[in-house]
Parts: sequence; C-alpha cells; structure tokens
Amino acid sequence: MKITFPHMGNVYIPLKTFFEGIGNEVVVPPLCSKKTLEIGTKIAPEFACLPLKINLGNFVEAFEKGADTIVMAGGIGPCRFGYYCEIEREILKRQGYDFEMIVLEPPKGHLFELIKNFKKLFKKDMSSLINSAKFAWKKAIILDSLEKAISKKRAKEKIMGKTDKVYRELLARIENISEEKSLEKFDQEVKEKLSEIEENQENPIIIGIVGEIYTVLEPFANLNVEKQLGELGAETVRNIYITDWVKGNLFPNFLKPKDHREVVKSAFPYIGHFVGGHGQESIAQIVNFSKKSFDGVIHLLPFTCMPEIVAKSAIPKVSQKFQIPVMTLVLDEHSVEVGLRTRLEAFVDLINQKKKRRTFSNEMFFGS
Ligand code: SF4
Repeated sequence: MKITFPHMGNVYIPLKTFFEGIGNEVVVPPLCSKKTLEIGTKIAPEFACLPLKINLGNFVEAFEKGADTIVMAGGIGPCRFGYYCEIEREILKRQGYDFEMIVLEPPKGHLFELIKNFKKLFKKDMSSLINSAKFAWKKAIILDSLEKAISKKRAKEKIMGKTDKVYRELLARIENISEEKSLEKFDQEVKEKLSEIEENQENPIIIGIVGEIYTVLEPFANLNVEKQLGELGAETVRNIYITDWVKGNLFPNFLKPKDHREVVKSAFPYIGHFVGGHGQESIAQIVNFSKKSFDGVIHLLPFTCMPEIVAKSAIPKVSQKFQIPVMTLVLDEHSVEVGLRTRLEAFVDLINQKKKRRTFSNEMFFGS
C-alpha cells in the first residue's frame, strides 16, 4: 500500500512524517503546478471549486509516481467539502484509476468511523503512534513560525528574492529530518539563516490574509499572494496556519483553543451562525485584525465557494465600521499572477497613501 494525500501548502511535511512514522509508504504528489491544475480541470465538473480541481490533479500525479491509496479528510457542515471524497472517488474511478480511498472524517459525530478507517493506516505499536504524532506536531509548529518569520523578512529584505531562496532551502531540509535532535538543531539553524538576510530600515505595512482555508494555505492556489505582497513591501499575517488546521479538523471540540472561540464571537453581529468552511472566521478575523491596527485585509475565496460568498456579503459593513480596507480576490483556473499583481499594487498604494495622510494630519494637529 502506497499512500498519498492532496497538497495544501506545507501540510505535506508533517503529514508525511506522521504516516511514515506509523508504518506507511508515502508518495507525496509533485508540488502543485499548472500541469496539476490542467489535469484536474479536465476531469472535474466546470463549477466545482478550485481546491477540488487541484486535488484531483494531485492524485493523478501521485498515481503516476506509484501511489495506490488516497487518504482524504472528510467534512461536515453546509459546504461541499463533505462530498469531496465521494465525488473525487467517482471521477477518478470513471477515469479508470484503480485505488483505495481512506476517508478520515472529523471526530465530531464520526468517532467510530474515524477509528475504523484510521486502523487501516496504523501498522505499528502504540508508542510509534504517540511518537510520530508528537514529532509531526513539532514539525508543524516549526513550520508555522518559519512561515511567519519569512513573511516578516520578505517585506524588509534588501535584496529581492533572498528570503525565498533561504525559505526553499529550509523547507527541503525539514522535510527530510527524521530525528528529534536534528529538529532542535534545525530550529536554531532557521534563526541563524534568517538573521543573515539584510533588512531595510523602513517599517512595512501589515496586511491580514483571511478566507477559505485552502486558498489561504496553498500558495499555488492564491497565486503566491503573500510573496507578491512581500515584494511590494507588505508583511502578511494569515488567519490560519498549519497547526490551526490540525486543531480545527483533527482535534475534538473540547480540545479546540478557547481564544479561537472568543475570536469567532466578534463575527456574530454580522454572521450569526455557522455557514460552513471558514466564513464566520473570515469576518471575525477582519474585526480582530482591525483591532490590532493592521493596515488592510485581503479576503481570498475560490469561485463559487459558498461560505466565503456569505462572508463577502458582510464585508462592506465590517470594513466601514472598523475603517479597514478589505480587498476580495476570487480565484479560479483562469486567474493569473500578472493580473493579480496590478490589483495588489493598487491596494498597497492605497494603504500607503492613507497612512501618509494620517501621519500628515497627526503631525499637523499634535506635532511630530
Ligand atoms: S469551503 Fe468553499 S472552496 Fe472549500 S469546499 Fe467548501 S465551498 Fe468549496
């Protein structure tokens, strides 16, 4: 049995560590590319959301590398994700692929099914399960702080592209680390490598990234929006990182962080109940980011994404009330990086002008 799973940003690194640790052979699909999307678009229904198309492309590319079993997360709630595994299974079977699909449903309401399916992947003893879960979790924590640090550096780097070069090298290193000791050394190495990148003196603007989880986490799907903003001198902070995804999808409710539930409450005046996906979180985080004095927010959603369409309808009110500029970007297979760049440049320009005006009037009234 050679297992595979879809890409979603750097999630593949801790997932590979975990599944290998409990005794599986893992085939990671090639990183998402134009080819991946082309394959998925050809075999998916036209109005399926972008993540499904990219997922299908990932699976076909993984089959070409020898994978024969797909591990997929299940879902509940009013959004199409809950049907993803069934639809993907049908589409791929019709294309003639012979494979098994193991669906890991969220614990809420599916605990026995989750245990039954998970047993198919569990080929070692209990201690290997605990150790690999701990090891994978440590990698996920390091990846989260690496991603945050990279975004800070990118916005200030003196030589454009230097931060991303270091980032790529570090990702390749952490993927292959198989011992806890080396992981501790790696953490130190990250700090050293990042401190070597020369910085400009200016304070960058800070832009929050919210929206549908897949488009927020997968740089190919969001056309490298964080990298592009970094090149324009903006630091980015996301509403979700890898560990948040794990907590939200794999932890039972009582283990979910309290502060997250608190943040979601700030969406209630605009969206009073769960609308599926991360629709409510998107609104809550715009409120949260504005309270933290962020300069602007980018809201990402795949074309036809239902929860984020609901969120989008509430954004004008939130943006006006909290005086924070929000730009929504709808992504599909026709979106291109060049087109996005022009819009991002205009958005960053607008924020910089707004900031200058504010500084100017502060100086006029209060002195500098
Ligand atoms: S959250 Fe949006 S993009 Fe994701 S599965 Fe649901 S509808 Fe599709």
